[in-house]
Amino acid sequence: DTVIVLFNRDLRVHDHPALAAACADACRVVPLFVADSRMPAGHRASFLAECLADLRGSLRDRGGDLVVRQGDPVVETVRLACELPAQAVYVSADVGALAQRRERRLAEECRRHRMGLRTFPGVTVVPPDELRPSGGGDHYRVFTPYWRVWSGQRRREVLKPPDKVPVPEGLEGGPLPVAGHGPNGLFPGGETVARTRMRQWLKYCVEDYAAGHDDLAGNRTSRLSPYLRAGCLSPLELESLAVNGDDFVRQLCWRDFFHQVTRAFPRINRDDYRSRGQRWHDDEDAAQAWKEGRTGVPIVDAGMRQLLAEGWMHNRARMVTASFLVRRLRVDWRVGAGHFFDLLLDGEVPNNYGNWQWVAGTGNDTRPNRVVNPVRQARRFDPEGEYIRRYLPELDGVPTKLIYEPWRMPTRIRGYPAPLVPMD
Ligand code: FAD
Repeated sequence: DTVIVLFNRDLRVHDHPALAAACADACRVVPLFVADSRMPAGHRASFLAECLADLRGSLRDRGGDLVVRQGDPVVETVRLACELPAQAVYVSADVGALAQRRERRLAEECRRHRMGLRTFPGVTVVPPDELRPSGGGDHYRVFTPYWRVWSGQRRREVLKPPDKVPVPEGLEGGPLPVAGHGPNGLFPGGETVARTRMRQWLKYCVEDYAAGHDDLAGNRTSRLSPYLRAGCLSPLELESLAVNGDDFVRQLCWRDFFHQVTRAFPRINRDDYRSRGQRWHDDEDAAQAWKEGRTGVPIVDAGMRQLLAEGWMHNRARMVTASFLVRRLRVDWRVGAGHFFDLLLDGEVPNNYGNWQWVAGTGNDTRPNRVVNPVRQARRFDPEGEYIRRYLPELDGVPTKLIYEPWRMPTRIRGYPAPLVPMD
């Protein structure tokens, strides 16, 4: 038999249940990635191109290859299956609206062509539909009870990469998508880099996570999110190795939590999860200033400029910048979430929209009226003003005491705006 393994958010060979099963079940395995018209731009495009090149390398090391096609993933998969011919398609199940729709279409097409379709876990630690609240309902709406059950759940075995990927003779891989933008030096894409970073993080840093994760300037979080997003790392393998990092593992549980919310509520990127009848202020100029890091509030601007420059932002800065947009500027969370999604290397539906709705009070927060004070947050989590100065060189000469509130300076700072909204 010939089986196609359709890759998407699982660009790795380690602990890949669909790939492992295909190599065990079939005489011929055809790893496939379909680049569709929704492919990302900028940093994200180069990151993806690097991930695919690395995956192809790992598959070739095992006697295999990666077939890359352009077009609609369902159409291209079925087309390739008919050409080969293949008897079955294996995929890792995913949760967003688009992914679920794609999976349904693929199931339909496979039925029509009398091919099998099998879905496998691999995108989360615990599969998103595995845990159900005892009181009824199709998913957990609140984190803490989910965390309790999740922590006690038996895990499946972490799988080794296959020794051999037996592709059919003469298989043509096709060209990889070309990265349209220069590489992002901070986050080179691919499983090989991801695994090196994972090992270093677990060996030298994870124990410091509880104490250091809120230090804005210190880079004391794992910075593995882009790799988890693309599936260069298995979240299950990461969890199984993080034996000294309870607080870190809790964050992986937040990731799983938002995946199971999204599985049950796939419109999370469009509709309020819990509508509170908010009226948003349609202020394009304010939203634009926020996007460009020109709000006049240093901690907000530093975060937004980190996003522009690096395609990544510290979690504390994400909370402060998101809260500023929705609470102070009263701009619709969808505007901010869309901007984050386009620029973040780790931009993914469940975590991005789940967190945005959490901040906006329309999501899973049990304290939906929480307001974050940006000045207080900055003093606490950037006590030397180092993070602010790193991204806002125009504030270099401002003394630390005033760097959080430059509007209190006796003279205006050239090149830095006054705050968009009153800050006192
Ligand atoms: P670490 O602190 O080292 O955590 C390890 C991993 O746990 C992360 O890589 C991530 O996969 C997961 N994780 C950590 N915090 C959260 C969280 N609050 N919710 C869900 N999972 C979490 N994370 C994304 O992966 N993609 C997004 O698009 C995204 N958008 C966000 C938008 C907003 C407004 C906010 C407040 C948070 C968002 N997050 C998102 C969550 C979090 O900020 C990032 O996961 C984290 O900053 C990534 O850095 P790290 O890998 O160093 O995380």
